[in-house]
Amino acid sequence: MTQEDVFKKLVAHCKEYGFVFPSSEIYDGLGAVYDYGQNGVELKNNIKRYWWDAMTMLHENVVGIDAAIFMHPTTWKASGHVDAFNDPLIDNRDSKKRYRADVLIEDLLAKYDEKIDKEVQKAAKRFGDNFDEQQFRSTNARVLEHQAKRDEIHNRFVKALNDNDLAELKAIIMDYDIVDPISGTKNWTDVRQFNLMFSTEMGSTADGSMKIYLRPETAQGIFVNYLNVQKTGRMKVPFGIAQIGKAFRNEIVARQFIFRMREFEQMEMQFFVRPGDEMKWFEYWKAWRLRWHKALGLGDHKYRYHDHDKLAHYANAATDIEFEMPFGFKEVEGIHSRTDFDLSSHEKYSGKNIKYFDPELNQSYTPYVIETSIGVDRMFLSIMSAAYCEEQLEGGDSRVVLKLPPVLAPVKVAIMPLVKKDGLPEKAREIMNQLKFDFKCVYDEKDSIGKRYRRQDAVGTPFCVTIDHDTLTDGCVTIRHRDTMQQERVKIEDLHAMIDREVNMKNLFKKLMD
Ligand code: ATP
Repeated sequence: MTQEDVFKKLVAHCKEYGFVFPSSEIYDGLGAVYDYGQNGVELKNNIKRYWWDAMTMLHENVVGIDAAIFMHPTTWKASGHVDAFNDPLIDNRDSKKRYRADVLIEDLLAKYDEKIDKEVQKAAKRFGDNFDEQQFRSTNARVLEHQAKRDEIHNRFVKALNDNDLAELKAIIMDYDIVDPISGTKNWTDVRQFNLMFSTEMGSTADGSMKIYLRPETAQGIFVNYLNVQKTGRMKVPFGIAQIGKAFRNEIVARQFIFRMREFEQMEMQFFVRPGDEMKWFEYWKAWRLRWHKALGLGDHKYRYHDHDKLAHYANAATDIEFEMPFGFKEVEGIHSRTDFDLSSHEKYSGKNIKYFDPELNQSYTPYVIETSIGVDRMFLSIMSAAYCEEQLEGGDSRVVLKLPPVLAPVKVAIMPLVKKDGLPEKAREIMNQLKFDFKCVYDEKDSIGKRYRRQDAVGTPFCVTIDHDTLTDGCVTIRHRDTMQQERVKIEDLHAMIDREVNMKNLFKKLMD
C-alpha cells in the first residue's frame, strides 16, 4: 500500500469513526473547513490540555490569556500583515488549478532529497556494516550530481524569496520543468502576490462601518496585552504568555485534509526576554518543544528541525519542528525569534509607551520575543497518522487499531458486560460509576466481545474491561490492552490504579521534567 493510500484510508477512518467531518457536508462541504466529531473533539481537547498544562503549570513564569478574535484594524497594519502577509500564487491555464509557487519549488527540492536518500539507502544495503554514509555522500558521483542540482535550485529560490522577486520564482518553475501534477503541462500564468487575511465589516454601513480582519495568528492578541498581564500579574522578564484560539487564513491551495485549513486553531506562546538574551531562549524553547513532542512516544525518528530559508518580516531566527506525515516531513510547529518587531511597531502605531521597566537593571526597554507556535489541527493529524495501524492477526483475521498515546485517547475505558443478563449489566454500571469521575468511559453491551473490541480499537481506547459471571463471585474483571491485545484478570479495586498509571497526564509531565 502506498503512503497515499494510507492517507486516504486515514481520512475515511476519521469520518467513519466520528473524528473529523467535512464542514456543512449536506451542502457538499466548504473548501478546507472541517468539523470535529464526538471522538475528534475529545482528542483535540486532550492535545490542548497537554499543551496548556505543560506551558502554564510546568513553567512558573508562563501564564495564559484568551484574547478576542476581532482586533482593532491598526493591529494588522502594525504587525505587517496588511502589507506582507502574502503567498506567491500561480495558476495553470490547462488544469485551471491554483498553486503556491514556493510550494511547487519546495516539492522539487524534496524530490532531489528523496533521490539522494534512495542512493544512500541502496548503498547502505550493499555495503552492510562497512558503510560509511558521510564518505558516500561526499564522494558518490550520482549523489554529488543530485546535490549540485539541488543547491543550484535552492540558492536561486532563497534569493528570489528574499528579494521578493516573483518573476524569478516563475523562471525557476519554467527552467526546471516543473509541471502541473494534474494537467502535466507548463502552461503557467505569472506569479502574483495574494494576501491571506479574511476581512469583514464591523458596524452598520449607515454610520460608517469599519473593515476588520479575522486574525491570521493569535500572537497579536498577546502582544497588545503583554503590559496588562505583566502589570496585573507582577511578571518579571523573562516571562511568557500562552494562548489557544482560532486563526483564519485564506489559503490558496487547500489540500491534505486538516493539514492546511482556512479556519484552524493555534497554540501560541510568546516569551518576553531582555534584548541580547533572545538566542539563549530561542535554543531553550527549541529543545523544550521537541521534548514535549517526543514525550508522546510516537517515535523520535519522526521529528526533525528545519531552519527557515526565508525569515518572516519579523524574525531574526526561525526553526520548524517537522513531523513525518504520510505525505512526507511537514511543519507542525514553528519556533521564531521575533525580535522587538511587534512590540516596537505597536508602540509606534498606537503612540502609547509600552516599554517594560526592568527593576533589576533600573532601566526601561522593549523586550525581545521568542514565539512557539503550533497548530492544534496539524498536531491532531500527526498523532492520527502515527497511530493508524492495520494489523494482520493470527487465523487470517485483521484489525484497524489507533495506537494513540493513552493520555490523549478520546475514551480511556470501555466497560463491557459479557452478556446482557444475569446481573452483569448492573455490575458493569457499578464499576463504570466508580471510574467515570476520573476517566472518560463508554458502556457497550451490544454484539460479541470480539466485535466490541474491534470497535474500541478503531477509536484507540486503551482499555476494555469485561464483566463476566465469575466477576459476581470473585470480584475480578478481565482487562484487555489495546496494543498487545493481552488480557489479564484483575481485582476490581485495582482497576483504577492500573488505568491511571497509563492515562494520567501527570506521568507525561514528570517525564518532561526529568
Ligand atoms: P505553512 O508554511 O505550512 O503555511 P506557516 O509557516 O505559515 O505554515 P506559521 O505562521 O508559522 O505557519 O503558523 C504556526 C503554526 O500554525 C504552523 O506550524 C501550523 O501548525 C499552524 N498552521 C498555519 N497555517 C495553518 C493552516 N492553514 N491550517 C492548519 N494549521 C496551520
